[in-house]
Amino acid sequence: MSRTTDVIVVGSGLGGLMAALAAARQGREVRIISEGTGCLAIGTGCVDLLGYAPDGASVEDPWAAMTELAPAHPYSLLGAEKVRAGLDALTETTAKHGLVLRPASRDGKPCNTRVPTIMGTLKPTYLMPDTFEPDDLGKAKRVLVASVMGFRDCRPALVIDQLRRYPDWAGKEYFPCLIPTPFDDAHRALNALDLARAAERPGGSEWLIGSLKERAEGCDLVLMPPICGRHAGSPLTRELREALGCPVVEMLSIPPGVGGLRIRDALMRELAALGVELVENANVIGAGVAEGKCLSLDISSTGRSYSTKARAYVLATGGILGGGVLLEPGRAIERVFGLDLALPADVADWTEPEIFGNQAVSKVGVRVDDKLRPLDANGALALENVFFAGRTLAAHDPAVEKSGYGVAVATGWQAGLAAAELAGAARHTGEAATGGEQ
Ligand SMILES: Cc1cc2nc3c(=O)[nH]c(=O)nc-3n(C[C@H](O)[C@H](O)[C@H](O)COP(=O)(O)OP(=O)(O)OC[C@H]3O[C@@H](n4cnc5c(N)ncnc54)[C@H](O)[C@@H]3O)c2cc1C
Repeated sequence: MSRTTDVIVVGSGLGGLMAALAAARQGREVRIISEGTGCLAIGTGCVDLLGYAPDGASVEDPWAAMTELAPAHPYSLLGAEKVRAGLDALTETTAKHGLVLRPASRDGKPCNTRVPTIMGTLKPTYLMPDTFEPDDLGKAKRVLVASVMGFRDCRPALVIDQLRRYPDWAGKEYFPCLIPTPFDDAHRALNALDLARAAERPGGSEWLIGSLKERAEGCDLVLMPPICGRHAGSPLTRELREALGCPVVEMLSIPPGVGGLRIRDALMRELAALGVELVENANVIGAGVAEGKCLSLDISSTGRSYSTKARAYVLATGGILGGGVLLEPGRAIERVFGLDLALPADVADWTEPEIFGNQAVSKVGVRVDDKLRPLDANGALALENVFFAGRTLAAHDPAVEKSGYGVAVATGWQAGLAAAELAGAARHTGEAATGGEQ
């Protein structure tokens, strides 16, 4: 059994990292325990807040649309001001590490915008890296669509065909191009992360600029995959923009998530500076619980089992994909505490044929109160010193409503603050009882 810490956060996805940041900023001692990296490793660098309303309508103002969500939705439980506090904490932190994230604006109000993907589709999102300037996309008339030889995920001809289907993009003139690979002998298909790493090596900037300079002549926009560096604050996109003399926009990519890894990089640097401990490859397999409180967590890591304790806990273990929710024949359970999660009794009702329809199984998760503490099947508080955050929460469907990082950031931040407050009070009570020895 290791020493008691103030706050243990389980999970190092965006929800867990934001919770750890919030608690550490309150001066608490924080330990993150995580089995894997979470969805930032496969996501883009754009933060979806709320792209579609429950009736499927496209949302322009996510703040207004948020007020129409069901009462159990994580945004409704928190309220817009707390959601905003989480986003502000994220943008302030990433900016400190060179990654400026900001929304587009219309009539002076922040709004959603649609950004191109490497499939040539347009995806609604809220916060984008400041290298995206929506006006640049709208105004451009001659667009170079670039990719790299040996990189199969992005085919300029396909991107162009797809983009032409959108009225705002149909009237532009397009120029497809493949630049040479930076690898002499790649023995496998390249992905965006390989290329982003290569771009950061000595000579990487020269490779990109040298390959694109002539081809971009006469163009007023370059679209390319997200390969301008793997780290937050990489200067490559700006260097490229300056050298080519026109806007350069990295399209959103399929996994691996170079954009998501840049956000992770900024947050990890900040957490390291705050002294947050990260225990990786550690699987929380159970918990000691008594009288409605979590007393300890059981960990299995590299063949070793042990318990660890904190004054308060944040569970940001992701949904079915992240590993926080298990589906078993006929039931769904939260993995660490074994909480039973509500789903229709008949398995046939868990899904429906329309893939982006109202899939009950997508909304399965832990039901919580407005402090993000778990509720039991009767709606009563199940654990008073545990807070849940992110994809593991019930009543939202990030894939359909486009709210993934938004929910993770907002609930992670609030769960971290709540855990910090509780841990502070528990530490105070413990110190008073023991004369300072705990
Ligand atoms: C392919 C893909 C792309 C996406 N792209 C975007 C995007 O561009 N923008 C956007 O806004 N949203 C996107 N999303 C949605 C978004 O990624 C998620 O909704 C959000 O990141 C969830 O964050 P999380 O921290 O709640 O969970 P996760 O990121 O899933 O993290 C869960 C963490 O918990 C750990 N864990 C789980 N169980 C245990 C255990 N028992 N013990 C220890 N650790 C445990 C996992 O290892 C992991 O670290 C995307 C989703 C997918 C699948």
